[in-house]
Amino acid sequence: MFLPIDSESEVPMLRFAHQPHAPSYYAATAHPWPEQPLLRGEEDCDVCVVGGGLAGLSAALNLAEKGFSVVLLEGSRIGFGASGRNGGQVIAGYASDIDSLRRQVGDEAAKLLWNMSVEAVDIIEQRVTRHGIACDWQRGYVSVAVKPRQLRELADWQEEAERRYGYGGQQLWNQSQIAERVASPRYVGGLFDPRSGHLHPLNYALGLARAAREAGVRIYENTPVLRLERGDAPRAACEQGGVRCRHMVLACNAYIGALAPELERRIMPAGTYVIATEPLGDARARALIADNMAVCDTNFVLDYYRLSADHRLLFGGKVSYSGREPHDLAGAMRQDMLRVFPQLADVKVDYAWGGFCDITVNRAPDFGRLGGNIYYLQGFSGHGVNITGLAGKVVAEAIAGTAARLDLFEKIRHRPFPGGKLLRTPALVLGMAYYRMLDYL
Ligand SMILES: Cc1cc2nc3c(=O)[nH]c(=O)nc-3n(C[C@H](O)[C@H](O)[C@H](O)COP(=O)(O)OP(=O)(O)OC[C@H]3O[C@@H](n4cnc5c(N)ncnc54)[C@H](O)[C@@H]3O)c2cc1C
Repeated sequence: MFLPIDSESEVPMLRFAHQPHAPSYYAATAHPWPEQPLLRGEEDCDVCVVGGGLAGLSAALNLAEKGFSVVLLEGSRIGFGASGRNGGQVIAGYASDIDSLRRQVGDEAAKLLWNMSVEAVDIIEQRVTRHGIACDWQRGYVSVAVKPRQLRELADWQEEAERRYGYGGQQLWNQSQIAERVASPRYVGGLFDPRSGHLHPLNYALGLARAAREAGVRIYENTPVLRLERGDAPRAACEQGGVRCRHMVLACNAYIGALAPELERRIMPAGTYVIATEPLGDARARALIADNMAVCDTNFVLDYYRLSADHRLLFGGKVSYSGREPHDLAGAMRQDMLRVFPQLADVKVDYAWGGFCDITVNRAPDFGRLGGNIYYLQGFSGHGVNITGLAGKVVAEAIAGTAARLDLFEKIRHRPFPGGKLLRTPALVLGMAYYRMLDYL
């Protein structure tokens, strides 16, 4: 259903270049987006952005709004990667918990990081409104607990979020309160966050692309960057031309590969998967999840789900580090869905797909600079729908001369995955097996 990448490949980008969107529910309901030209010949610009996912699009749009001339190069179609395939959950915070970031960067910096993650949700709402992006944006998210221990952790977080970060307004729900809102026997409670929410990610990405084009960004699709020529005026070398620029932004997710081996070493591609049921009808859908909330459990390998605008259940989960899709993906995901909602046994699955996340060792985002003029945004670690919008804004600020917020992210220490190319996957799988075991305790 999706194109695996091989992390051992010398030039993994060749494996994803010139591909259509994954055959997902999102692709089937995408708003029209005219195919952009392939780059032929040489171009000059202030900033060349590599990657047409949410991170690259946000960077390009913010930069164009600041008056830079911008070229965006996408190897396949806009939103081809994780940005056009994800669960659509827009959740304040980061994949790593804010407390472990606080221990590393200190109280003050952690507060700024937290506030930026909340700002990121507002950025989405502002973009949707300003550019009239029809992407079913909806506020409301609940984090659900499968175990009493997890509910205690949610209660602790509710208190800490308010006391330490000034993030109030969350509601802790007990077993009967959650059962009234999420029709599953699986949960002992949940923490409702009214500010987080969900959207149709591919339509959001295409809406940002349209806004970027209107702001003057030159977008090329089906134009993989094959090589970076670094230096005072870096150049992105493509199949039939290249782009010379003053600054470059790499926003390539798990596909970065040989383009920047020093970045590739710090991320691991992790596959995760989603199914979309047939439409359930308004009443049945609303009986499943009240108030159209997004839902995630707090397991390490988590279930994440929500309703679509046409009343399907979009149910995501599982994780794979092998680069291979699980056998009988739709059937395996359906089993997971029935564990949560046994009452859907009569419901058909219409779509099943997956994609790759770029996880870092500590699950914190990895933003920074290579030399003085090549910037990178990676390591969203499966929590990028929200943070990508902020990442693009922060990198644009830095290129425009105000680097304080990028510097803050650069304070977060990152290290390569242990074991090098050959051993990092087995080492990671062992580590994951340990955390997966904790889900059962
Ligand atoms: C199935 C799934 C479910 C997820 N669910 C959620 C969720 O519910 N909530 C959440 O917050 N996050 C979720 N995520 C993660 C989230 O989607 C990502 O963190 C986010 O979309 C990353 O955006 P990006 O722009 O960095 O990467 P991508 O969207 O992958 O974009 C990178 C782009 O760069 C292009 N590219 C790469 N290399 C080159 C090159 N050399 N030349 C030209 N182009 C290149 C690729 O073609 C791709 O389009 C999910 C991810 C997956 C796969």
